[in-house]
Amino acid sequence: MKVGIIGGGTMGLALAHRLARQGCAVTVLEAAPQVGGLATWFDYGDFVWDKFYHVICRSDSHLLGLIDELGIGDKVKWSHTRTGFLWRGKVGSAPIFPPHPTERRNPREK
Ligand SMILES: Cc1cc2nc3c(=O)[nH]c(=O)nc-3n(C[C@H](O)[C@H](O)[C@H](O)COP(=O)(O)OP(=O)(O)OC[C@H]3O[C@@H](n4cnc5c(N)ncnc54)[C@H](O)[C@@H]3O)c2cc1C
Repeated sequence: MKVGIIGGGTMGLALAHRLARQGCAVTVLEAAPQVGGLATWFDYGDFVWDKFYHVICRSDSHLLGLIDELGIGDKVKWSHTRTGFLWRGKVGSAPIFPPHPTERRNPREK
């Protein structure tokens, strides 16, 4: 099956990946000169920088599952943020809070 996806943001690219894995011939149509949508980067030549401030929390099981699926899990480096998160009535840096027992890190893990 041939599929066209309009928009090469996170959703379009994740969908393209999943459909291609199922054997579809996928074409992603992106209007911008760069894929990634809101989650893309500025290229300053010597270094690149997030276009917007983005974080991944340990409880983001679906995103972490996708990252593992793409084989780039080893590129994720965890660090304490200096940004506060309000979670269950407490303010703290994201990694202070372990994932809730019902939230597995990887949805494929039993
Ligand atoms: C300041 C900020 C901080 C954020 N921080 C976080 C965070 O920490 N963690 C988190 O999980 N999320 C965060 N988000 C949200 C996250 O960035 C978005 O939810 C996610 O990137 C949306 O992805 P998307 O593919 O749905 O849409 P988009 O990223 O908007 O991608 C849509 C793509 O479609 C393209 N497009 C649109 N119309 C057309 C067309 N007609 N033809 C071709 N291409 C088209 C656009 O150019 C774009 O590339 C943040 C967002 C902002 C703005």
